[in-house]
Amino acid sequence: MANGEKRDYYEVLGVHRNASETEIKKAYRKMAIQHHPDKNQGDKQAEEQFKEVSEAYEVLSDPQKRVQYDQFGHAGLGGGAGASGFGFGGGTPFGDIFEDIFGDIFGGRQQPRRGGKRGDDLLYNLEISFEEAAFGIESKIEVPYNKRCGTCNGSGAKPGTDAKVCPTCRGAGQVRFQQGYFSVSRTCSHCNGEGRIIDSPCTTCRGSGMARDTKSMSVKVPAGVETGNRLKLTGEGGEGVKGGPNGDLYVSISVRPHSVFSRENNDVICEIPISFVQAALGTEIAVPTLDGKLNLKIPEGTQSGKVFRLREKGIPVLQGYGRGDQLVVLKVETPVNLNKRQRELLEEFAEIGGEEIHPMKKNFFDKVVDLFS
Ligand SMILES: [Zn+2]
Ligand SMILES: [Zn+2]
Repeated sequence: MANGEKRDYYEVLGVHRNASETEIKKAYRKMAIQHHPDKNQGDKQAEEQFKEVSEAYEVLSDPQKRVQYDQFGHAGLGGGAGASGFGFGGGTPFGDIFEDIFGDIFGGRQQPRRGGKRGDDLLYNLEISFEEAAFGIESKIEVPYNKRCGTCNGSGAKPGTDAKVCPTCRGAGQVRFQQGYFSVSRTCSHCNGEGRIIDSPCTTCRGSGMARDTKSMSVKVPAGVETGNRLKLTGEGGEGVKGGPNGDLYVSISVRPHSVFSRENNDVICEIPISFVQAALGTEIAVPTLDGKLNLKIPEGTQSGKVFRLREKGIPVLQGYGRGDQLVVLKVETPVNLNKRQRELLEEFAEIGGEEIHPMKKNFFDKVVDLFS
């Protein structure tokens, strides 16, 4: 399935947008059974549909992901949005949800949960200034995460004791039995699929093997980032338990608006007001740029809206070479709050001024006259 052709997840599952968790689960079960690869061997289309249905369920069954999806659609999940896109948790699309829902329907496909559990993927929102986004920054962040309990080193068993192999499933985490025609396996209820039993749980973590902590770390934000960019720090997410690998940390960038600059791709836009006298007579103005002040000559007779391009004064290209430009947009300001003397001078100015000093105005009204004659 190509990107951009992704169907709406609600449509995929055939439920309405306000569907309850139970309705979503029910719809998924029905569709997944229908398209399950075991029932449709060699049928590519069924396989694709099964994947689509599983993906939709993975998002809509997770309250946090569902909120994101409702607000921002597929883009809100960042899946496939580029090299650093936000994956759907760890493992394969046939991971945990498959086990949760099909543990008691389709036997034989599942792997016992040996080899531990992968740590959580974490998302950290980092707010930086316009200048920091332009030139990059090394930022210190404090990330709350789950780590292995220090008391039991993640085993969940009280120090000095050991977890023992579950006698019911002999460590497999699954029990098999015959149900009519099928050989069915289900998650072992004695050990909850862990394959091990802890008789004396660690008192620090109450047997979970996990502890909550915060780590300080330094993130290198490259020059040229913009709001919505995500940095992936592999292995910096939650710690895996019982031998599982760590999750990843995603740092999502959000750039604070600047007081005088705005951004368009890699160009910096700066709008500068000048007086009509400056515009008429010509002048030199100090222009703020990312590299400090720069003098810009304004020729006489410059019109409002005129754009001056300062080459290579924009934002460095992210992970590339060169920089954008700065665009200075002049805005001629009409004077307000005139005093008596100023008003007199302008009135006098208007009296002597001929048509030729306002060619645009003359041109326009000539056309209007033509229009009505
Ligand atoms: Zn512990
Ligand atoms: Zn067991």
